[in-house]
Amino acid sequence: MLTSSQIRDCYLKFFERNGHKIVSSSSLIPFNDPTLLFTNAGMNQFKDVFLGNENRPYKRATTSQKCMRVSGKHNDFKEVGHSTRHHTFFEMLGNFSFGDYFKTDATKFAWDLVTKEMGLDPTRLWITVYQDDDEVWKIWHKHVGIPADKIMRLGEKDNFWAMGDTGPCGPCSELHYDFGVSPIPNHGQCDLTCSCGRWVEIWNLVFMQFNRDAGGKMTPLPSPSIDTGMGFERITTILQGKSTNYDTDLFRPLLDEIAQIANVEYGTSASDDVSMRIIADHARAATFVIADGQYPGNDKRGYVLRKIMRRAMVHGKKLKVDRPIIYRVAGRVIELMKRGYPELSSSRETVARVIKQEEEAFADTLGLGLRDFYDRAKRIKSSGARVMTGEIVFYLYDTRGLPLEIIEELAQENDLVVDEAGFTKALEEQRERSRQDYHSGKVREQVARTVFEGKTTFVGYDCIGPVKTTVRAILVDGEQSDTLEQGQAGELVLETTPFYAESGGQIGDTGVIARGDNRARVTGTIYRGTTITHIARMEKGALQVGEEVEASVDMEKRRQIMKNHTATHLLHAALRSVLGPHVKQAGSLVAPDKLRFDFTHFAPLSAPEIEKIEDQVNEQIWGNQTVRTNLMDLESAMKSGAMALFGEKYQEKVRVVEIPGFSKELCGGTHVGATGAIGALKVVSESGISAGVRRIEALTGPGALARFRSDEKLLDHIQTEYKVARPEIPSMLEKLQAQVRNLQKVVGDLKVQNARSAIGEILTTVRSIEGVRVLAQRVPEMDRAGMRSLADDLRHKLGSGIVILGTPQDGKVALVVMVTEDLCRRIPAGKIIKEIALLVGGTGGGKAELAEAGGKDSSKLADAIERSYSIIEALLRA
Ligand SMILES: [Zn+2]
Ligand SMILES: [Zn+2]
Repeated sequence: MLTSSQIRDCYLKFFERNGHKIVSSSSLIPFNDPTLLFTNAGMNQFKDVFLGNENRPYKRATTSQKCMRVSGKHNDFKEVGHSTRHHTFFEMLGNFSFGDYFKTDATKFAWDLVTKEMGLDPTRLWITVYQDDDEVWKIWHKHVGIPADKIMRLGEKDNFWAMGDTGPCGPCSELHYDFGVSPIPNHGQCDLTCSCGRWVEIWNLVFMQFNRDAGGKMTPLPSPSIDTGMGFERITTILQGKSTNYDTDLFRPLLDEIAQIANVEYGTSASDDVSMRIIADHARAATFVIADGQYPGNDKRGYVLRKIMRRAMVHGKKLKVDRPIIYRVAGRVIELMKRGYPELSSSRETVARVIKQEEEAFADTLGLGLRDFYDRAKRIKSSGARVMTGEIVFYLYDTRGLPLEIIEELAQENDLVVDEAGFTKALEEQRERSRQDYHSGKVREQVARTVFEGKTTFVGYDCIGPVKTTVRAILVDGEQSDTLEQGQAGELVLETTPFYAESGGQIGDTGVIARGDNRARVTGTIYRGTTITHIARMEKGALQVGEEVEASVDMEKRRQIMKNHTATHLLHAALRSVLGPHVKQAGSLVAPDKLRFDFTHFAPLSAPEIEKIEDQVNEQIWGNQTVRTNLMDLESAMKSGAMALFGEKYQEKVRVVEIPGFSKELCGGTHVGATGAIGALKVVSESGISAGVRRIEALTGPGALARFRSDEKLLDHIQTEYKVARPEIPSMLEKLQAQVRNLQKVVGDLKVQNARSAIGEILTTVRSIEGVRVLAQRVPEMDRAGMRSLADDLRHKLGSGIVILGTPQDGKVALVVMVTEDLCRRIPAGKIIKEIALLVGGTGGGKAELAEAGGKDSSKLADAIERSYSIIEALLRA
């Protein structure tokens, strides 16, 4: 039997022998295509090649592509697991011709591969073609030799493909496999259009032949192309002689792993099987998505990933697994798949940590959410209803973090229906509430849009002023205005500006816009669309639309910002070099007095790691490297290895900031001409801000010096005040601490001794209750060990009886109860202390002979001690 790895290789090698270049799968997170949530077909990475916008050094390519289908048109998310045919993550094998071979070769390749290389029985294979595509019908029949009755003509819905409403499109032809019998008993005869499961489409060949314009008119493409997609899981099922994808070696080892963890067996319980399949499928998806750099979160892609993981967690709970499970299954996924996708190996640790963290973080909420769900489901059903109202669903979604799909799935299992319209309404209402908060801002926004039409030319890379320019528009109190009067605040739009508008983490510039003596102070600069606007207050005189002005940026502040921005790039590169390529920028702030950099990483940085990073950055600074900026087209920028924020949309022309041999990033920010200007960089804090994301704050140049000075002052102060040489400060502090500890112990011992000397006196207060000697006493403040030893002494003196001691401790209460051996079965210490602890606002427990407790309210201690006699009386009588 061929393994899945061999089947993948078989496909790729066959096309390689036939002149195709084996191209690696592209990332699941589409680069530079925000319209697409996840890569969902082999052709995604070649879209621009097909559109003629991009050239590749090859005309034929073949891939095994990672794909995800979890939203949009092909959304089978809720089906996954219940059906054995749908998946969130899957692999698609494909071969592509970019204006090279066409229908004849494509069909011949397909037939040869499945019948000769893969050895499928030709009598089991059926063909479909587009109804009007006589050309390909003839090829199948005449060239390949398929009997006419095994070629079906289908309509546009099934066999016509289009990239979008306009653009490349064309007919398809599909290969179907016939399992011979329907999995549904007594199903009767059917053909390949039936969805019973007897027939499986294994391969779709798309013939990109036309270009469709907005009017629907189709003109033949000058060089028609080929795009094909074979379902990898399906062909593996067929070639391994299995009946479902889950029985293949792609899934079976995962199900075995889950079976072992959950102590269940696959195939013995229908509902357990569903849960196991869901965990297996979703663990695969989570593994691949995280390995491609997307972590769970609340943005679009992050939420989809989170939803997938939460659904798997729900099913982990259903299998009664109370520990994190998905990260362990993910480990198996990597073992199974790393041959086909080597990037998985280097992400092993990342994947495990991200998943485990998410599982641990959601575990409690999930427990509450599920309990809440079942409570409410029970109440609804006992009231005779069947509908879960939108309000309840929204509560579970909003407060308990259960994704809608999961609530629907749970509802279905409990014979309930979800009021989806009601839920949408509740969701809308919540959005409306937050919208209203922004309403006034919105009106402003609208006025602003009309004012801020067009693009402001930014000239501040090379020159920070004064720049001669014209006032194009003024906005005051959200209204368009002709002038900005003395004392008024508003927004100024200029023809060109040296002011950098806040973006890419770099804060906006401040400065002055003036005409002669008329002067506006600019306190911030921001983008509104493509227009740059200056938030300003008129300090003196007035400014009018159309007037010529001079714009000057606060030079000193901007210089600091430039230093910090370049320093951020150095830090980014050093982090990747020291910690590894999994480090990705997650956010940044570049201000004049500090810089902040957020990045993906799992563990706190160690002191040596931070030092290494600082060393690398400072080495670049002291080498005084020239900072180069270049305008390049996006593709060559990426090819040259420039780092980009993934998922971000870039213009065709991008600005590349390079510190040669060390850092290269797409960046629109302002930078120093050479790194030496930064002076020095010192990391001052490192912390975690969310699961898998760390934050570093650092100072440069004068800021670093100021920090150094204040630390020096602090040390000087200690040195003179305590008359100790600097290197001896730590040992002096250690000595002091040891002394304090010693003294504390001496004081404690004295207190116990003191109390002990009063033992004789204490013993006179013994009372006899139901024939048992009971001693309850409030003693002066002492630690627990002291209390225990005192109680022990008293117990011995009593010989037989009960000792209860209470002491105030820092405003709280400590209690100890001891019972001699002869009595401890009849009246265990743990039972006594529970009741007394209640009186001082605490809880406690313990064994039969000794129990301890703490309480919150020391003002009630005396009363509690007094009442303990009656408590014991009641317990003895019971
Ligand atoms: Zn059928
Ligand atoms: Zn930058």
